[in-house]
Amino acid sequence: MEKRKPIVMSGIRPTGFLHLGNYFGAVRNYVKMQDEFECYFMIADIHSLTTHPDTRALKSHVQRVLAEYIACGLDPEKAAIYCQSHVYETGELYLYLNMLAYKGELEKTTTFKDKARSQPDNINAGLLTYPVLQAADIILHRASLVPVGKDQEQHLEMARTFANRFNHRYVEVFPEPQAFNYGDALIKIPGLDGAGKMSKSENQNATLYLADEDDVIRKKVMKAKTDSGPITPHSPKPDYIENIFLLMNLVSDEAVVRKFEDDFNNCSIRYGDMKKQLAEDMVNFIAPIRGRVNDILHDEKYLKQIMEMGAEKARKSAGVTMKLVRDAIGLSY
Ligand code: ADP
Repeated sequence: MEKRKPIVMSGIRPTGFLHLGNYFGAVRNYVKMQDEFECYFMIADIHSLTTHPDTRALKSHVQRVLAEYIACGLDPEKAAIYCQSHVYETGELYLYLNMLAYKGELEKTTTFKDKARSQPDNINAGLLTYPVLQAADIILHRASLVPVGKDQEQHLEMARTFANRFNHRYVEVFPEPQAFNYGDALIKIPGLDGAGKMSKSENQNATLYLADEDDVIRKKVMKAKTDSGPITPHSPKPDYIENIFLLMNLVSDEAVVRKFEDDFNNCSIRYGDMKKQLAEDMVNFIAPIRGRVNDILHDEKYLKQIMEMGAEKARKSAGVTMKLVRDAIGLSY
């Protein structure tokens, strides 16, 4: 039998515009991985229902994420790019995995506790079993590598738990999925306000979106939190300054970063200049992506075609896994 390449799976919820956190935490890795591995990249539309029950904007958000995937360099010929709701097998696997997930462990999940706090009137069962659905998405393709940001570490741990539990309870079907990032650590892109992370639905003024116009980018960067600068050479950086350096490292030339590092270390740094530089480098980074997204969004037929092609590839892989799953459980009479 032909040996399969390692399998990669990841996804993003269509709950708003993609931002730098999604790009550097996830999509940048997707683009590199599509050349090396068998890749499944999903638009997690079902997941978004747990927190965004109003679906009026869903279609346009799905199209936007898809266009943003392509504009960032994902290639529908290389990877399966698909919508979660188009792969019905996900629902079936989710159902079986729910019998292997315990209420107590789900209630302890940090994201569940956070979400329950932020939407006390809608603590639905889908929110509680979010990690089960996520595990189903991943192991449905028997994926072993999952490119995600640092905020997803705990969910990945749970996906491993459910996969292992299935293997022990029945027959070994699933590999253990591992969080993946090129480089040594998972990444977290902080908000520009020095608090929290960039996010689609929260913290919008402190988040840089791939759709932001040049002036909006400049304004947001110039508002980033700073102080009057260090007074002793080589002092440690406060978190919010560290964050600005982190962003600069991602989009600016090495020599530029080094100059500001030196300025910081000899206490001559002018944060106004640093932010101006960062703002221009950000504009240069984001503007071409934004332009491509807008072009792609105009072509609805193309978007539909990509989705159908992706769904077909994803369902093929899912179908093979589900046969193994049903046989393993004993649902084959
Ligand atoms: P959001 O939190 O913006 O709604 P999702 O939950 O849809 O984003 O996550 C999509 C991907 O983007 C995940 O892999 C997640 O780890 C990554 N991601 C989201 N925000 C950040 C961030 N600020 N830094 C790094 N990665 C992030």
